[in-house]
This record gives sequence, structure tokens and C-alpha cells, in this order.
Amino acid sequence: MRPQEQCRIVLVLLSVLTTALAALGQSPPSANRDDSNGPTRWFKGNLHTHSLWSDGNDFPEMICEWYKKHGYQFLALSDHNILSRGTMWIDAGLPAKRGAKDGVERYKKRFGEDWIQTRQVDEKSQIRLRALDEFRSLFEQPGRFLLIQSEEITDRFQKLPVHINAGNLRDLIKPRGGANVRAVMANNLDAIAQQSRDVGRPMLGHVNHPNFKWGITAEDMAAVVQEQFFEVYNGHPGVRHRGDEHHPSVERLWDIANTIRIAEMKRPPLSGLATDDAHNYFGQRGSSPGRGWVMVRATELTPDGIIRAIQRNDFYASSGVTLRDVRYDADLRVLRVEIEPEEGVEFTTEFVGTLENYDTSTEPAGTDAEGKPIRATRRYSNDIGKVLATVKGNSAVYRLTGRELYVRAVVTSTRPPENPVFDDQKQQAWTQPVGWERWVAAPQRDEN
Ligand SMILES: [Zn+2]
Ligand SMILES: [Zn+2]
Repeated sequence: MRPQEQCRIVLVLLSVLTTALAALGQSPPSANRDDSNGPTRWFKGNLHTHSLWSDGNDFPEMICEWYKKHGYQFLALSDHNILSRGTMWIDAGLPAKRGAKDGVERYKKRFGEDWIQTRQVDEKSQIRLRALDEFRSLFEQPGRFLLIQSEEITDRFQKLPVHINAGNLRDLIKPRGGANVRAVMANNLDAIAQQSRDVGRPMLGHVNHPNFKWGITAEDMAAVVQEQFFEVYNGHPGVRHRGDEHHPSVERLWDIANTIRIAEMKRPPLSGLATDDAHNYFGQRGSSPGRGWVMVRATELTPDGIIRAIQRNDFYASSGVTLRDVRYDADLRVLRVEIEPEEGVEFTTEFVGTLENYDTSTEPAGTDAEGKPIRATRRYSNDIGKVLATVKGNSAVYRLTGRELYVRAVVTSTRPPENPVFDDQKQQAWTQPVGWERWVAAPQRDEN
């Protein structure tokens, strides 16, 4: 055999292998919609993204391309109170006003003059924003990249923001309002669940950035039982991830809410997502992309496949750390985390939880400079969200003793994120609480 022939055979074999591997990653759509069968793989996605359709500063096609190029498999476009559909014209000067230097030129250069529609209105130049259904075929590929129509339902009670992302919507949901923060949360989450039932497909509601303008307390998160998902990490620099002297960090809100849920309400805990909440796509200033994402273990890259896997809690949140595996063996009561090793990097896994018979005492959050009580999460004992074990290395195991109301793992790298939000930030991954089923009343969380 001549060397060229050998070479050709190797190439053919390689292409067969590649096709076979690609097929493994794209199992056929399951007829019975029970996608817990079949091989699974991890899909990386961002569920919270803004574009020029609301207050972002780039065109949606440019944003989709950014995520696809940066190794994501799915992206939810979630503008404020709008779906990317229908006809929408913007002033050609708007991107520049929002800090997108040469944004229109960059867009034209990438997609060509033929793709861009412009018009003059009152001597002002306008550009039409393309709708998701016009551009999704440019990016979507089976098993490789998926776009999910979403909305950030942007509501409030008085001055307190209540923002809830609704994924895989068919119809726009207008903010429902309500008589207090909890009612606003519940009304909007109910509207998502209702549409999901009406349309007959899964939709995902998740509560955004609870510490943004201190809108949502841990008690609110616990009380609104419709809430199953919230953002434990949001890459927007304005969301007060770490809290302040009167307000717990977002991660502590999670532990407080989950302890109230399980111990007092006999209800399942909340699960935590990480998202970008990206608005700014020109350099690293502002709320730029690539800071927070979810890794979802699913059999198929479809809205149904991704959302059902999230609803099964088969996902984790990340700001940089990648896990090879996270697994809870309910019979042995063992939580195991396998981390993707990185050259020159050390990982610390903390297993965090609350034990039964914890100190239940609480105190008010405190008073402001004028002596008025601050509206904030109460102060809880350090028994809540305790570090139960710390493990160094690329894998970590925690064996539950039976006293834990729940346990979750948070993995912290020695490496800072490429585009950090706050001083001394390190890359992290957050897994979902486990071991709580025995404390809660049946039936467990229903899927919408
Ligand atoms: Zn928001
Ligand atoms: Zn947002």
C-alpha cells in the first residue's frame, strides 16, 4: 500500500470515528419524552443574556456568535419584558450610546450589508433588529448549539426589583405585579407554570440576582414555594454577590432559605444557577459575557432535554471550575465530586450544610442611620450553612451521617476568573443540595 493510500484510509477511519462520536453526543429524540434513558453528556449554557432588544449593547447575532465560539452549547436570549420577535427598529446611534464603539460597523462587517436593514425616519438612520426565528438557523446545529427563547420578566414591588427569567416561552409574559415581593414572585412564577401547562412543553422559571437593590430576602425565597431555581451567581457587577454588613451574601441566602424550606416547611430546597446577565460586549467593562454558566447533564440538546435535566437537578453552576462528575448515591448517602484537573491549579471542595437540631435563633437585620429597621434577611446562627468538611485535591467525597438536612459542595480554585467581578475572586463551582428527601413531605417538587 502506498503511503497516500494509507493516509487516505486513516482519514476515512478518522471521519467514521468522528461521526460515531458526534452521534453519541446526539442521541435521537426520545419518543416517550423520558430522557433519563440513553447516554448523557454535559452541555454548557448561559440562561441570562441581554441584547439591543432591551438594554444590551450588541446585536443578537453577534452575541450568539460570541457564545458559540466560546464553547457554549446553549444560550437563552432573555431581554427585559420582550421576546426577540416581530419588527423592532432602533436608532443607528444607540449601540454607540451604550458604549459599543463601532458596534454597527462590526455587525455590518461580520454579516454583510445585505443582511442589515436600514431606513431613515425624520432624517435619522435606523436599523432593524433581526428576530430570533430569522437568525437561529445561522447558529443552531443539532447536538452542538441551541438557542432558547426566553424573557427576563422585569417586575417590582414599590422600589424593590423582582426579576424572573422565563425560559422556552411561547408567549410574552407581562409582569404580573402583586401586593408584596412574595406575591410578585409567586404571580410571575405561576404565569410561567400556567403557560407551560397550556402549551404542553417544559419552561424554566428562575429567580434572578436576589441581592440586586436588596430586592429579595432569604425568607422571601423560602416562602415562595413556586420558586425552585435562583441565581447563586450572576456575573453582573451590580448584583451585590457578597452582600454587605446588613445583608448576607447570595450564597448564604441560599443556605438560610434551604434550611427554612427543609426544617420548617418540609419542602424541597432551592437549586442554584450561575449566569452572565450579560449586557456589554465590547471589552471587559460592565456586565460582560463569560462569567457564569450552568453545566447540564442531558441526553439531548433540545429545550426539553435541557430544561428537564435542570428540573431533575442534574446540573451545576460554575464561574470557572469544571467538574467531570458530581454524583449522589442515595443508598450509601455519599456525595462525590470529580474535578477536571488543571495544570498548576489546586482545588478546595467545601461540603456545606445544616445539621438537624441546629441553633434556630434569629435576630433582626438591624437599623439604618436614622434608626429605622432595615428590610433585609434576619441574622441567623452560624449553624446554618456550616462547612461540614473541607477536602483538597481533584476529587472529594462526603459521607452523610444522617444528621444533615442537606449537603452541597462548593469547589474553589486557586485561579481567578479570566474576567473577575470583584477583588480576590476565585473560580468556583456549586453543586445542588442533596440528602434532603427524607426531611420533606411527599409529593416532592413537581415539574412544570
Ligand atoms: Zn435583572
Ligand atoms: Zn438581566
